[in-house]
Amino acid sequence: MTISRDAVLKWLETYAAVINENFAYLTQLDSDIGDGDHGANMNRGMQAVLTALPGVADKDIGAVFKTTGMKLVSTVGGASGPLYGTLFIQMGNVTAGKMELTLADWVAAMEAGYDGVVMRGKAAPGDKTMVDALKPGLDALKSERDRGASVPEALNAAADATKRGMEATIPLVARKGRASYLGERSAGYQDPGATSSWYLIKTAAETLASQAQ
Ligand code: ADP
Ligand code: MG
Repeated sequence: MTISRDAVLKWLETYAAVINENFAYLTQLDSDIGDGDHGANMNRGMQAVLTALPGVADKDIGAVFKTTGMKLVSTVGGASGPLYGTLFIQMGNVTAGKMELTLADWVAAMEAGYDGVVMRGKAAPGDKTMVDALKPGLDALKSERDRGASVPEALNAAADATKRGMEATIPLVARKGRASYLGERSAGYQDPGATSSWYLIKTAAETLASQAQ
């Protein structure tokens, strides 16, 4: 069972739609502990990605991811633009030339993307950032791969773990990004970037798992 290029395109379209639908919620989360622009940042970025996807719809998955990442870097701004941009550019490096992905390819792409986020943002788990959502998702993917799970099983396990990671940011005190300016007062709020990362992994499970062939 593999993930096709068309399924990847569908995932990105679905993510753009989910960001658009949850724009106000992301804005509210970022108003609580940041400057209230995370919904607008991500929506601007994903709408720009939507306009760019037709230009790479017949290219390989690596090209689709690289174009996505470059669009996010150039349009999102804020802390999250370079971070999500790096995530996708690194996913693109690992999947260059591929028209479909095995579960092992998908895990390798997510690992490269995660490593890119950490290298760029220097956040550790527990710092109350998107890393706290992405890391448990990646760990779940690796253990699912190692036990020989199917693509849908692995993606669903990753989505569940990512959700738990997102929820676990609530009590944390922020040590990176704007929320860290609040110090102890950042505790009690869910991190906006962890929330947009959960949407990313949740939509992957919903679209890629159902279209895996
Ligand atoms: P800004 O903070 O510049 O306004 P956004 O509001 O778009 O940018 O994004 C804020 C999110 O970015 C945070 O909720 C957090 O998840 C993420 N973030 C901020 N700094 C870092 C970092 N150094 N490493 C990882 N994620 C970070
Ligand atoms: Mg912000």
